[in-house]
Order: sequence, then C-alpha cells, then structure tokens
Amino acid sequence: MALNGQMMDRPLTIGSLIDHAARYHGGTEIVSVEADGDVRCSDWAGVAVNACRLASALQRLGIGTGDRVGTLAWNHQRHLEIYFGVSSAGMICHTINPRLFADQLVYIIRHAADRAVFLDRCFVPMIAQLLGELSHVEHWFLLGSIDDECAAVIPGLKSYDELIVGGDPNFSWPDHEETLASSLCYTSGTTGLPKGVLYTHRSTVLHSFAISLPDSLGLSARDSVLPVVPMFHVNAWGVPYAAAMTGARLVMPGPHLDGESLVRLIDSEAVTLALGVPTICYGLLAAAAEMESALTSLERTVVGGSACPPSMMDAFRENHGVEVLHGWGMTEMSPVGTINQLLTKHESLAPADQNSLRHSQGRPIYGVEMKIVDGDGWTLPTDGAAQGDLMVRGPWIAQSYFLSDGVSALVDEWFPTGDVASIDADGYLTIHDRSKDIIKSGGEWISSVTLENIAIAHPDLADAAVIGARHVKWGERPVLIAVARAETAPDPTEVLAIFAGKVAKWQVPDKVLFVEELPRTATGKVRKTSLRETFADALADQDAEARD
Ligand code: ADP
Repeated sequence: MALNGQMMDRPLTIGSLIDHAARYHGGTEIVSVEADGDVRCSDWAGVAVNACRLASALQRLGIGTGDRVGTLAWNHQRHLEIYFGVSSAGMICHTINPRLFADQLVYIIRHAADRAVFLDRCFVPMIAQLLGELSHVEHWFLLGSIDDECAAVIPGLKSYDELIVGGDPNFSWPDHEETLASSLCYTSGTTGLPKGVLYTHRSTVLHSFAISLPDSLGLSARDSVLPVVPMFHVNAWGVPYAAAMTGARLVMPGPHLDGESLVRLIDSEAVTLALGVPTICYGLLAAAAEMESALTSLERTVVGGSACPPSMMDAFRENHGVEVLHGWGMTEMSPVGTINQLLTKHESLAPADQNSLRHSQGRPIYGVEMKIVDGDGWTLPTDGAAQGDLMVRGPWIAQSYFLSDGVSALVDEWFPTGDVASIDADGYLTIHDRSKDIIKSGGEWISSVTLENIAIAHPDLADAAVIGARHVKWGERPVLIAVARAETAPDPTEVLAIFAGKVAKWQVPDKVLFVEELPRTATGKVRKTSLRETFADALADQDAEARD
C-alpha cells in the first residue's frame, strides 16, 4: 500500500530565500556600483528590508498576485530589491532586455502587460520615444532620484526611493503555493517574436540549490560573487537567488561592463567568482593584461551563453591562475543545464589532458536529464561520437511559453533545445552548433563552433564567426567572417593556415572575409542569420570554378 511520508509541506519560495539571507547573513555586504561610478554598500538585511517596503508599497498601489512588474535596469542593489520584493509578494518580476530593438521592447512590454516598470536613468530617453505605444503601463518608476529632464519626458514618472520610503519594513510575505509564477524572461530569439518563459518559485529555488553545489558553481558564504551577466539575461543565470540561499557576498557592477572597470572592481572588492559571456571576458582579460593585474583574488569564472574558446580558458589559467567553469544552458532552462568540472578519475591525467576535458560544456547538474536523438526521434548512443538533436527535461525547464494557449513546447515530454550535441559515457556534453547554424557540406556536418574556437586563437583576430555559404557542388561550405585586431592587416592565407592539423582538411573554411564588426543579438550572440544573408553568395566564384 502506498504510504505518504510525514515531512512538513513547506513551500519552496523566493521569500524564504531572502528571509534566510537576512536572518543568517544579514551583515554580508551587497556592493553596488552606481551609474556615476559611486560605490554603494548595503547588506542582505538592508536588501530584505527594502524588498518588504517595496512589496507593501506596490500592494498599496493595487498591484496584486500574478501582476507583472517590469524592470529595465543594470545589476545593482535596487534591482536586487525588486527581484525579491516583487516575487515574494506574489507578483511577477519581468526583466526586460534593454538591448532589444524598439519594436521588440514594445512587443514584450505589451505582451507581458506590465502594470508598472522600474527603469534606470540611462533608459529614460529610449522609453520616452515609445510611450505612445505603452499606454497600458500605469506606473513608471525611476531607479534613483528624479530630475526635471526625466520628469519632462516621462509624464507622471515617480521615484523608486520615494516609493519605498513609504513602504512597511516589517511586511510579511503572503502565503502562496510554490508553483506560483515568480518571474518572466523573454528569449531574444534570432528569428520570430520573443517568447516568454514563466518561472515558478519552486523552479527558482530548486535551480538555486543545484547551481550552488560544489560541482556546479560551488557557491558559499565565503564567496564574493561578481555577476557580470546582466540581471535582464535569464535572471543573471539565477545567481542572485543562489547568493541569497548561500549567503554569498554580491558585487554588482552597474552599467560598467568594460574590461578596465571590471578588473578594478575584482581587485578592489576581492571578487572570488565572476560570471559572464565570452565577449565580456575577452575585454576583462585584455584589460587585466594592460593594467598588469594578476586578478589575485579571483579563483574561478563561469563562462557560458556561447561556447568558451579554449584559448580563453588557457589565458585565464596560465596568466591568472583562474579556473574557467564552462557552462551551458538556455532561457527555457532557468538557465543552467551543465557545468564543466572534472571527476576523481581525471585527477591523475596529465595537465594537457585535463585541460582538453574542460573544453566541453560539462556534465548535467542534478535535476537535468539529457538525451540526443536522430531525425526520426530515436535516441542515439552516449559515446561521445554520435551527434544529434539535444533534448532535455527537468523541474526548472519550461514546458510551454507564456500566453501560448496551453500549446506545449515539448516533443514526447522532452524540451527540444535546438542544439546539435554529443554526450560521452560520463555525461560530458559537447555542443557542436545550433541546429540551424551547423554547416552541411556534401552530406557531412561541420561544426561552426569548432572552427570559431580555432580561429579566435589567431593573434591578429579580434572576433570570428563561421557560416555556411552556398556551394554548387557541396551544398554549403564554411566561410570565416573575421574582425582584424586594431592596427593589423592579417593575410587571408596565413589566417586559414591556423586550421592546419586541427581539423580535417575538408572542414577548413574555403575563404576568410573581413568585416568591421560582427552583428550581435540582444544577448550578445553572433547573429548568424544576418551573416548568412549577407554572405550567402560569398563562394559564387568557386561555384563558377566547380561548374567549369
Ligand atoms: P537566445 O535563445 O536568445 O539565444 P539563450 O541564452 O536562451 O538565448 O540561448 C541559449 C543557447 O545559447 C543554447 O541553446 C546554445 O545554443 C547557446 N549556448 C549557451 N551556452 C553555450 C555554451 N557554453 N556553448 C555553446 N553554446 C551555448
């Protein structure tokens, strides 16, 4: 006979995270860089009190359970207060990516039906242009003090600081189910309209447990964590919640994401763990070299969002003694799916072999199940060689999109990631490409990620992307689109020579073309669709040769 266990049924809520941080890590600092560069210091207790004030003030405005409250803000203390105050009160914290195009911004603020929006001063001019299309937003709040200039362009603009002054510092979070919606992020998507991913309190707390584990980020109360990844990009990879859970100290960079500012912040605040996408980490490494900083306090850095080139891992390790933890995930996965950490059996390997193991995207954290399937949906072997469409499932993975009329996003109960991957016997995942980016040459697949990782190690290249260009004989052939470093004029033949011996000859790009800059999406990924359109016929001359 089935017998229920006799444990308490306490809900897993975001309110319980901030309560814990306030009670047991109340004095742990939250350092926050303001737009003008000033450093503001508070602590978990201070954040919790302001979150309570905010929640009660929003309730007084008539904003209630399930209502969406938007943010257009960098990583700073006030944004953290909104994260905890809004969700703990039962409202939904909708983080808006300010790097989206204007029409996408309008679309998602309307789609989410945000009743109130909190914004940084730097986004005021942009929003002022769009107000006509956003008349449904009842309250605009400035994160900071209001001046005449801002007040003139957003009629009725109110101050966040004044709002919370009137709030109740002893506000108690309302009781609610752990399955209540807590926050909302839209995937930027390289094509089509953005889609909303609606997280729950439960998914957020479980994800926090999982990313804090020693073989994940290994977060602890002894860490000083610098989330460079923006809070408007998949909740800064869930770090604010996990930091509250573990009582870690947070160092918030504000809008200052250039390498020099980051190096200064790491050194002055003794940051132990930083997290960011590869593009930002390039800036950080270059600035550290220029400023002759050893990044002494930094122990590890989590790099994800796009493939981390091995040359970047080498630079962090060899120049600064910093271990890179390569992670993979997506908005629909809260976002973390895998993190690369070694196993006991790898300890006896030669350093070079250990390093190459670290290149993959790593192993699933508990809670994430993965499989790869072929075109007919059959499961492929996890032998490290077979490549297929990556499917995932787990308690912090989306099953449908916000307001999608109950249409499931799943295929046979699994979420299709859109990535092409292989998985080895230990569960190490290698992402070869997004399925739409993989290059299909004469019936063989070529991974653009592999080629990009090799190209970017060339000393004269600042940026690189590989796309498939039309080819009359092979269907598609790889073409390298590169950005030369300032004051260099690399020779195309010499650039292509970097692939020799690293991949099979037939995988070497047919051509390299130089551009000023690579087009990027709002989340910093290379916009391959646009490159493919521009350079679709880059090999037309070779087509002619092939025909001759
Ligand atoms: P968007 O869908 O807007 O691009 P996401 O952040 O959700 O934003 O993107 C998730 C995708 O990013 C993954 O499906 C994968 O293709 C790519 N990605 C994330 N991390 C990595 C990584 N470490 N290596 C390779 N690709 C990655």
